[in-house]
Amino acid sequence: MKKRAWAEPFKIKMVELLKTTTPAERKVALEESGYNTFLLKSDDVYIDLLTDSGTNAMSDYQWAGMIVGDEAYAGSANFYNLERNVQKYYGYKYLVPTHQGRGAEHLLSRILIKPGDIVPGNMYFTTTRAHQELMGATFVDIIVDEAHDSESDLPFKGNIDLGKLEALIDKVGAKRIPYVCVAATVNMAGGQPISMANIKMVSELCRHHKIKVMLDATRAIENAYFIKTKESGFAEKSIHEILFEFCSYSDGCTMSGKKDLLVNIGGFLALNDWEIFEEARNMVVLYEGLHTYGGLAGRDMEAMSRGMEEAVQFEHIQARIGQVAYVGENLERLGIPIVRPIGGHAIFLDARRFLPHLKQTDFPAQALAAWLYLEAGIRTMERGIVSAGRNKDTGENHAPKLELVRLTFPRRVYTQAHCDVTIEAVETLYQDRNSLKGLRMIYEPKYLRFFQARFKPL
Ligand SMILES: *Cc1c(COP(=O)(O)O)cnc(C)c1O
Repeated sequence: MKKRAWAEPFKIKMVELLKTTTPAERKVALEESGYNTFLLKSDDVYIDLLTDSGTNAMSDYQWAGMIVGDEAYAGSANFYNLERNVQKYYGYKYLVPTHQGRGAEHLLSRILIKPGDIVPGNMYFTTTRAHQELMGATFVDIIVDEAHDSESDLPFKGNIDLGKLEALIDKVGAKRIPYVCVAATVNMAGGQPISMANIKMVSELCRHHKIKVMLDATRAIENAYFIKTKESGFAEKSIHEILFEFCSYSDGCTMSGKKDLLVNIGGFLALNDWEIFEEARNMVVLYEGLHTYGGLAGRDMEAMSRGMEEAVQFEHIQARIGQVAYVGENLERLGIPIVRPIGGHAIFLDARRFLPHLKQTDFPAQALAAWLYLEAGIRTMERGIVSAGRNKDTGENHAPKLELVRLTFPRRVYTQAHCDVTIEAVETLYQDRNSLKGLRMIYEPKYLRFFQARFKPL
């Protein structure tokens, strides 16, 4: 195992006991959940790598903030603390809190999109694209081609292909493009970052055509770490400075605080444009809550505001991304196929190369996630043909090039020993890979099917 010169920048004050299960119990649990890890009960899970969304461990400083929650209906002190920190760290002028990221996506899509519009983005994110499509837009992927290749080692695979963006503007006209949706880092491409140089060029091109740039800033702090460590000219800058400059190339952002900001719930929409802000501040009252709480308790806003202060500390983000790298580097050493380079929040097993005997319609990534649970009680998720869903016009399955199983690491939750157990379990499955079967889908919900679909082994 690779040595590290640093350790987690925290010590543990309170613990939550884990439950272990027998293989027989896991077999029953898997059958009851239709071989969909989203439908497992958390009680039946030993190490939960399903998602890093809202699964963060808060610090004593954040918990102390929960106690000073100001639960006034209007004008909560915690709103103003959050607003001040959003202005300080992200640099946007105006803040509309929302219950989580998709609440902000909903408001933004509703305000900016007209039916027939085109929204380009660097690979889709499930909820983001769903809200754009609900408002009548068509999403167009303009990420660099390498992002779809799990073996390409490009450092900034989240980058936008400017040629694709220009060609799209030429083809459909700038008037039909309300904004370009830039995600940092790109979750669906394996947590791949976008470079400062790239977002700057996207911003210049968009300004020239009077198209807005809207950032999905959910993982922008992780992105800032990659800029600091991989892009020349940024090694001496702080995460705060990089984040601030990065956001300056956009007109606003949607944010899920459940990722970077170390909380269990919360999000926001942040904007520089007064007119859009006015509309959002008005609309939030209908869908989320008054504009100074947006569906959150005062204490939730305080925890998110304090989480922001901790999230931009270099020691924090180094340990967070370092834990992911530790698992990834050790899996690679065992010859296990994963997406390269290792991203910010997760390791992605490449199910096509892991299970080459299965067809994509046998749901190899869905199956691999099920078998990893059966093997060790470790819960992961599919990011492949099930998550990709169907084309909204033709009803055909999207068939993404990437067929991945995501091992997502909650922030500050698991220790290195948990990582070692995970590495060992994946290694065992890899040794037995030829005996692993695919699945067939027996129930398919209409929206975001990966959450509730059910399967049976072939
Ligand atoms: C989680 C996530 C969202 C959606 O946020 P929720 O808080 O889950 O609604 C949007 N974009 C990205 C990149 C995400 O990771």
